[in-house]
Amino acid sequence: MSRFLLCLLALTVSFTSSFSQEMFHKNSVIAHRGAWKAQGLPQNSLASLDEAVRLKCEGSEFDVWMTADGILVVNHDAEYLEMPIETSTFKELRSKKLPNGEKIPTVKEYLKKGMKQTGTKLILEIKPSKISVERSKELAAKCVDQVKELKAEKWVDYITFSYDAGIKVIELDPKANVAYLNGEKSPAELKEAGFFGFDYNIRVVKEKPQWIKEAQDLGLTVNVWTVNKVEDMQWLLDQKVDFITTDEPELLFETIGKR
Ligand code: MG
Repeated sequence: MSRFLLCLLALTVSFTSSFSQEMFHKNSVIAHRGAWKAQGLPQNSLASLDEAVRLKCEGSEFDVWMTADGILVVNHDAEYLEMPIETSTFKELRSKKLPNGEKIPTVKEYLKKGMKQTGTKLILEIKPSKISVERSKELAAKCVDQVKELKAEKWVDYITFSYDAGIKVIELDPKANVAYLNGEKSPAELKEAGFFGFDYNIRVVKEKPQWIKEAQDLGLTVNVWTVNKVEDMQWLLDQKVDFITTDEPELLFETIGKR
């Protein structure tokens, strides 16, 4: 083997072994559906992921559905430009473009883009199927498969409103970070089930502020959505929550910077 190849091999090995969670930004800022608002980008577009990366957010959240023919795509609503995702084929969905000219991203495209950097984590939301719980679990399993196929585990944390989908991910990848969104489970229940943390609506967290400490004492993480007001940001920063999910990442950075 040439000296050059040996050098290259050594560099690759050292990059792989030194790749750790420490490389991601640590600022608690999670861009909700990417960073789209300030720049007028479509939510959940590849461009909104790029913008979250450019802003150096700790994470960029995105929503995942499964098409009628089993392809994983990134979109918030159950419908994409008036086409119901779960009953449309991938080809049908790709026939229409987002306002910025992008097509609806596949999860594969989205993850591959996110894996070109190591500052911003990819917060993958598994959307509960409107057809059946079984389909939510199938989507969860396919998400885990896709992440494994791309070796994207270090980049991806999962969140979901579907308790069954969350349990499915934990079952298939016990090391995966999975947070629950729906708000009704106590920290102790989530810990018992193997969750990484909770990711609850700000209203829930204001009603049960004791859950923050309870969760953190159990080693769970606390994420709160969707936090767009400075006073709520301030309060959550005072409570030392782990993550704040916002449509206004610029405002959250500014708020953190002034403290
Ligand atoms: Mg979401």
